[in-house]
Amino acid sequence: MTRSEELAFVYTGRPGRVIFERGARAKVVEELERLGVSSAIIITTPAQADVAEEFASALGKRAGVVYTGAAQHTPTEVTEDAMETLRSAGANGCLAIGGGSTIGLSKAIALRTDLPQLVVPTTFAGSEMTPILGQTQAGRKTTLTDPKVQPETVIYDPDLLATLPREIAGPSALNAIAHSMEALYAREANPVIDMFAEESIRALGESVPVFMGEGDPAHAYETALYGAWLGGICLGSVGMAIHHKICHTLGGTFDLNHADVHCLMLPYSAAYNREAAPRAMAAIARALGADDGPKGLFRLMQVAARVTSLRDFGLTEADLDRAADLSVENPYWNPRPVTREGVREMLQQAWQGQEP
Ligand code: NAD
Repeated sequence: MTRSEELAFVYTGRPGRVIFERGARAKVVEELERLGVSSAIIITTPAQADVAEEFASALGKRAGVVYTGAAQHTPTEVTEDAMETLRSAGANGCLAIGGGSTIGLSKAIALRTDLPQLVVPTTFAGSEMTPILGQTQAGRKTTLTDPKVQPETVIYDPDLLATLPREIAGPSALNAIAHSMEALYAREANPVIDMFAEESIRALGESVPVFMGEGDPAHAYETALYGAWLGGICLGSVGMAIHHKICHTLGGTFDLNHADVHCLMLPYSAAYNREAAPRAMAAIARALGADDGPKGLFRLMQVAARVTSLRDFGLTEADLDRAADLSVENPYWNPRPVTREGVREMLQQAWQGQEP
């Protein structure tokens, strides 16, 4: 890697044990033992209840109780309900199997109890590698960072993604790229995270067209999960910028699906920073084998997305005005200043589904 600027950075490594291998779910019992968990609450969403039952059978006496009520954006009433289940079962650790929603619930329990977590991710959301937790109370989402919520152990078993529908997998993979992209131009960017970020975009950029196509997705899912792991490290290590701000604003205000909105907005956020973050853009272009980072991301978005414009999300142009107003309130740091006019223009392009 060549750098034009002087080297000056702060890098904070985050603890955590990661096991990555097809079939690695067979190691759950020994990993729970390592964490001192004798009775686990096994957490997932209603859609993955059968997977949780399979883990429960494999766990034998270590399976304390199964809880299948995890929901998007970690509603606190769900957390309270799960806490009640955990208390009555006397569980002393969490085993979470699922995407960001499931992992969010596990983290919310860890925040309240400091119990150890073993997490088995089944999407590309990357939450398992971060000390970040978003929770929703009375329709209001707040985010906190606390080392207590970062899972102690993560088992990546690419075989578990075999059941992931492509319309969830594609947007989820672009959600992972969003973490890596924003890490490249983060205020706290550093050479270690730069390497992770570029490699993550390369792995995801290579695998998305394969698993969204007609071929056998198994190897592509494995490569994408590896890229998502690296993206999760990026998310957990440095601050995010305009892309995350705009996605949180759109998602929260109009109740849009997390991964779908990340997927659509990715090329537009990249284009917003095109001139302000040339080194990051060059890394994205290199990783995607494209002439231009935002254009390469636009092509990838079109392959991966189930919603390809803000208009198709059902938003009106008046909604774009509202979103632009909200996006400039408490903006996140961004390499290009965040202006209402600039954001409104970006939203217009995304509404029309234009190439940025
Ligand atoms: P999700 O966890 O809601 O999963 C989407 C759907 O896919 C669910 O119905 C789930 O049951 C299903 N699913 C998951 N894996 C499957 C599989 N292998 N086979 C079949 N079905 C499967 O979606 P997500 O995009 O993974 O996570 C979104 C949530 O994660 C949001 O609430 C977001 O805020 C949060 N998140 C948090 C962080 C963080 O660091 N705190 C990072 C990323 C995302």
